[in-house]
Amino acid sequence: ARKFFVGGNWKCNGTTEEVKKIVSTLNEAEVPSHDVVEVVVSPPFVFLTLVKSLLRSDFHVAAQNCWVCKGGAFTGEVSAEMLVNLGIPWVIIGHSERRALLNESNEFVGDKVAYALSQGLKVIACIGETLEQRESGSTMSVVAAQTKAIADKITNWDNVVLAYEPVWAIGTGKVHCELRKWLSENVGADVAASTRIIYGGSVNGANCQELAGQPDVDGFLVGGASLKPEFVDIIKSAT
Ligand code: 13P
Repeated sequence: ARKFFVGGNWKCNGTTEEVKKIVSTLNEAEVPSHDVVEVVVSPPFVFLTLVKSLLRSDFHVAAQNCWVCKGGAFTGEVSAEMLVNLGIPWVIIGHSERRALLNESNEFVGDKVAYALSQGLKVIACIGETLEQRESGSTMSVVAAQTKAIADKITNWDNVVLAYEPVWAIGTGKVHCELRKWLSENVGADVAASTRIIYGGSVNGANCQELAGQPDVDGFLVGGASLKPEFVDIIKSAT
């Protein structure tokens, strides 16, 4: 069975005070046990160690990015080895904002996922189409190409969560079902059955129950609402 996964992507938000406040809200929350839902929050790099030191032990932290290979002369980047050294277990790779704003290509994202896994990190790999691609009917070919660029570079999917975040709006679960079929036909039935495919895009306290009930939706990657107390309600939608 695939354990429900709730990720909070804080993006480029927060001050030390705000971060401490979010963490204390999470620490006080009564939520289903770790057997039922896996909760991972992703603060900006500069707050990772602070959050890791303060956060309850049943929740984990993720970085929002890492470099594509071993560290070295790459000004401004953070390597996978550094995250491992700090005890950070997860990393988000290929978020739509990085694909769009920083021109991260499918191949670059695939290389990053492979390198991060090779260093022992667990990866939330993001895929999703733009509104333009959606309207031209190319949703499945876009997300299949994004997934293939990852599948071409890795053999073991145990430490991968696939986050489908349509850049346009709220999803219906339909693409998740198609994606699982794609995995089954192109990677393997076992990988398709065990890999969690989560949904991202305007998930909030009001719509999380309905979305969690969609077939093949194994959790969420939450942006804006992960900075608010309603993130606790989203975690509770696991049950
Ligand atoms: P919102 O939940 O703010 O729509 O963001 C989704 C997202 O990009 C999570 O990574």
